[in-house]
Amino acid sequence: MMIQDIGDHIFHNQFAKREVTDDDWVFVFYGNQLLCRLVDDRGLVLPEFKQLSCSKDKVTFLFSVDDRAYFLLSDWDGVLLEGFTYRSVEILRDVTPKHQAFAGFCAYHLSCWYRDTRICGSCGQTLIPDDKERMMFCPDCKSMIYPRINPVIIVGVIRNDKILMTKYNGRSYKDYALIAGFIEFGETVEQAIDREVMEEVGLKVKNIRFYKSQPWGFSCSLLLGFFADVDGDTHISIEEEELSYGGWFRRDEINLPEDNVSLTREMILAFAAGKEPV
Ligand SMILES: [Zn+2]
Repeated sequence: MMIQDIGDHIFHNQFAKREVTDDDWVFVFYGNQLLCRLVDDRGLVLPEFKQLSCSKDKVTFLFSVDDRAYFLLSDWDGVLLEGFTYRSVEILRDVTPKHQAFAGFCAYHLSCWYRDTRICGSCGQTLIPDDKERMMFCPDCKSMIYPRINPVIIVGVIRNDKILMTKYNGRSYKDYALIAGFIEFGETVEQAIDREVMEEVGLKVKNIRFYKSQPWGFSCSLLLGFFADVDGDTHISIEEEELSYGGWFRRDEINLPEDNVSLTREMILAFAAGKEPV
């Protein structure tokens, strides 16, 4: 289970030009902070439009989950709200209900794109939101700018009955991870896998097989998860700028709880259970 697995709820990401109503929820971000209220430490409550006392043209329709619409406050102007606080978007890993947490991931992704897509990079004109699709349009040079989605590969490197797990150097995420990295310009997915595994741990891989993918709003990414077998030399030499640790773990040595959020965790647990594609 991952963050996008929201059970019977249905995520509707189709673009629409929709006017906000008083009871619609509004995402308000300030940097990577989200204006929210937590009930019993975990239940995520967002402000409703009527609580924000702003004009309707200040909010943008994002998407809906089931028949509930979510909007984004376009320009943050220091809004404070009785009972609400700003919290790091990292809390979305732990909040309930799950579909609201996933909505938060997606809203954060779109909020970064809207924030960074105000001015035409070609001619400097102010961009205009298009009426028919999720696109920003330049009235001068006619440039069309769509939401940016950065592709990332994650690789579970396997050596017989062991998997390579790593720890990042100097990041907030402290748990075990797998090899991961952004796909670079001009690269195939396969080349990105070969390069990242070589750069991070100095290994060659073969027999690459796809597992699953995941939209990951925190880094405006689409994560692509693969397993691969080590090819030849199994000696790990970690890239110390990126990683603090890398080691081989047997299935029965993996002792991590499900987080129901990340593809990485699901892949590690799939390997522990002997359920990885072979
Ligand atoms: Zn332009």
